[in-house]
Amino acid sequence: MTSKDGYSWTKAQGLRAGVPSIGVIEPPSNVKSADTVYDVIVVGAGYCGLTAARDASLAGLKVLLLEARDRIGGRSWSSNIEGYPYEMGGTWVFWGQANVWREIARYGMQDELEISYDFSRGINKYLLSSPQGTQTFTHEEEDALMQSSLAKLVNVDGCLGKTVVPFPHSGVLTPEARKYDHMSVADRLAEIKNDLTPNERLCAESFVLLCSGGTLETTSFYEFLHWWALSGYSYEGCIDYLVKYKFRGGQSSFAINFFKEALASGNLTYAFNSPVATIQHGGNGVQITTRAGQTYKSTKMICAIPLNVLNDVAFDPPLAPGRKAAATTGHVNQCVKVHAEISDRDLRSFTGISYPHNGLIYGFGDGETPAGNTHVVAFGGQHNHFHPEENLEHTKAAFQGFAPMNIERLVFHNWSKDEFAKGAWFFPAPGLLSTHLKDMRARESNVVFACSDWALGWRSFIDGAIEEGTRAAITVRADFAGRAKL
Ligand code: FAD
Repeated sequence: MTSKDGYSWTKAQGLRAGVPSIGVIEPPSNVKSADTVYDVIVVGAGYCGLTAARDASLAGLKVLLLEARDRIGGRSWSSNIEGYPYEMGGTWVFWGQANVWREIARYGMQDELEISYDFSRGINKYLLSSPQGTQTFTHEEEDALMQSSLAKLVNVDGCLGKTVVPFPHSGVLTPEARKYDHMSVADRLAEIKNDLTPNERLCAESFVLLCSGGTLETTSFYEFLHWWALSGYSYEGCIDYLVKYKFRGGQSSFAINFFKEALASGNLTYAFNSPVATIQHGGNGVQITTRAGQTYKSTKMICAIPLNVLNDVAFDPPLAPGRKAAATTGHVNQCVKVHAEISDRDLRSFTGISYPHNGLIYGFGDGETPAGNTHVVAFGGQHNHFHPEENLEHTKAAFQGFAPMNIERLVFHNWSKDEFAKGAWFFPAPGLLSTHLKDMRARESNVVFACSDWALGWRSFIDGAIEEGTRAAITVRADFAGRAKL
């Protein structure tokens, strides 16, 4: 099945909107009666909503899952182009992420992982490209350079940030953490400007921008420290947790298991292609109306809609002021993630930075396609932001910013223009977490708000989405706890 989401380009086919994916659900709805009053309606079929819907339906609750798109997975989904899974959004997982690993084990997918990198051949180098030219390093030199740059960046306490974020899964920001949350990474770089070599500066800045998808000014320094802490306070940890292990069959091959298990419970009703327009809630329950005018009723609701689009839904009563303010501020991540299938087999083992002049900042060989070509993935963001489908020549030129390559195919999802995401993974500007993390997590009468965007641990990750979906289902189950069958 082909989703309406995403784009692909080849010379023969030109630019095409819509990408095939095993995450597209057919038939798009199994609603039998418009009059059913559900125990809980879950809005959003990303990993958070899928987890919540599955756990609630397995607990015996009558669940309706409503999703705006034609597919599951939200910001994590994979293509199925000629049998090859280009990851359109969330990709890498790691066994150190407790929630995601629990689910990988649950579905017996521990042997379905593969390593993105293959440092074995051809241009087996780290290419550091700046307006001054391209320098070439071994991958060992790359690791040493990245470790020394990031160590200088995070070392605010002589302990690589360990005293600032000693418990990365805690939701409590200490006064010191708040201090760093009010600082941007640009502020921190100004403090250490005399300590970094020019190459260390290039490496630190481009790595931070890879993480935040924002600019140095809009990136909370605390949240970078939080990612660093979650990754075991080391660059090696960052690689293991953030960009190394992915599913051979793509993210949609993982997400589909959540949906199938929920459906097999017999308690799941669902409707895709159903963007929610209004949510009314009060003492008597919840009434939800889609843009097409269809209404659904339930006792409870789990709202798994991302922060940047929460204000696009009309809530009655209106959202609590703190949550409304957080959604108005939004997060800053406007990551541009683009895949290229290239005929140059020698580039399978390269990694590279092309900064600060280029639209794509960070790229590397990510796989080999069925045609035997190299698959390169590259990331840009708010810094030199661009929309890949608007100027394909610019997009291709941005890949050449790493190394000359012969591009045969491009595949991407424009998350900035996606009306149901308006951005990529959550990354906060200075001050957002200190001011509004608690607000984002609070429930409002019968509505539980759950999303990876305000998870406690791996906030911004698939793990955080599952953490939140689990929390939401437990909360709603507790509401029904008196009922006999639970
Ligand atoms: P979402 O996946 O956004 O789900 C929310 C759902 O709500 C969506 O399906 C949306 O369509 C739906 N929705 C929105 N509005 C409405 C409405 N009005 N009515 C009905 N439905 C609505 N994480 C990792 O762990 N590893 C990675 O490598 C990684 N890389 C990433 C790369 C990119 C480019 C992106 C975009 C994200 C990446 N992430 C990664 C982050 C990860 O994808 C997300 O954190 C996670 O998928 C979010 O899940 P969620 O369920 O909380 O939200």
